[in-house]
Amino acid sequence: MRDLITSIDSTRLGFFRSILEEAEISCFIRNETTSQLTNIFIGPLQPTLCLVNDDDYEQASALLRPHQSEGACSSEEWLCPACKESNPASFEVCWKCQAAKPE
Ligand SMILES: [Zn+2]
Repeated sequence: MRDLITSIDSTRLGFFRSILEEAEISCFIRNETTSQLTNIFIGPLQPTLCLVNDDDYEQASALLRPHQSEGACSSEEWLCPACKESNPASFEVCWKCQAAKPE
């Protein structure tokens, strides 16, 4: 068994699991439901997508890579239309050339 992805977003993990299952890679999600008691004594456990066979790791991460970067890019950063520099979502103007953030 090997951990593949840990995320508090269990919906997202479910989506990843369906991709792997379609490719006939055996996997499961652990810590999908955590009890209040566990959170108090051990700390919050995040759901983790696990592979049954360690050998599937390379193939599985290759399958999920495009889906992972997609989400991270669009929500956290924006590209400056003037100089093509990437800026954090919290910036209202480009840190490099002060161009306004595009809508
Ligand atoms: Zn710029």
